[in-house]
Amino acid sequence: MKKRILLVEDEPSVADNITYALTTEGFTPEWCQTGAAAQTVLATEEVALVILDVGLPDMNGFELAKTIRQHSDVPIIFVTARAEEVDRIVGLEIGADDYMVKPFSPRELTARVKAILRRTDRQQSGNPGNPSPRPSSPFHVDEARHLISYHGVALSLSRYEFRLCSLFVKHPGHVYSREQLLQLLWASPEMSLDRTVDTHIKTLRQKLKAIRPDQDPIVTHRGVGYALKEEL
Ligand code: CA
Repeated sequence: MKKRILLVEDEPSVADNITYALTTEGFTPEWCQTGAAAQTVLATEEVALVILDVGLPDMNGFELAKTIRQHSDVPIIFVTARAEEVDRIVGLEIGADDYMVKPFSPRELTARVKAILRRTDRQQSGNPGNPSPRPSSPFHVDEARHLISYHGVALSLSRYEFRLCSLFVKHPGHVYSREQLLQLLWASPEMSLDRTVDTHIKTLRQKLKAIRPDQDPIVTHRGVGYALKEEL
């Protein structure tokens, strides 16, 4: 069965592009221009995921998300035109699953949608009480000691390698763009370059490879970003 994706976006040109990309990937997009219309859809139809613009004509996307969260755990991806809002999205406790800053490529957005749905499908089919990372994960994060071990071997990581690795381990399968990683993990993202992320990923990979030369748990999604393999 095709999954229905609710797109709440008041700009028709943006909505058109996203709708097209979602349809191409086999989803059934449902487009609403207002928060009120979105609430009607949510009340009456089964929706697998919500793509939610922060700036809507009748209410702000954060308010709508809070309303949705009162009765639903449906995954939410925020879309915002303002990079300053990213901090709010990340800091909010309404449980946003991801966010994108305009302009973005519809292809990148659909990649995120697929990654989130893979994750939620797995959670639903698997043991609901199963914590992440799963027991089979070769990684173990000891936050208190600021230590990550891989296949039982303690890694010697720089500050940013540690942050990257710990984020990946907590969210296996989640594809992070370079920009997101900078925003989430770096102290002054505006002073840093995308290449900074690549450099740290490279050294992190080398350290993992030194322990298990046959494995490369970090996946490069070309043109999109990086993720930790879901099955290790
Ligand atoms: Ca808008």
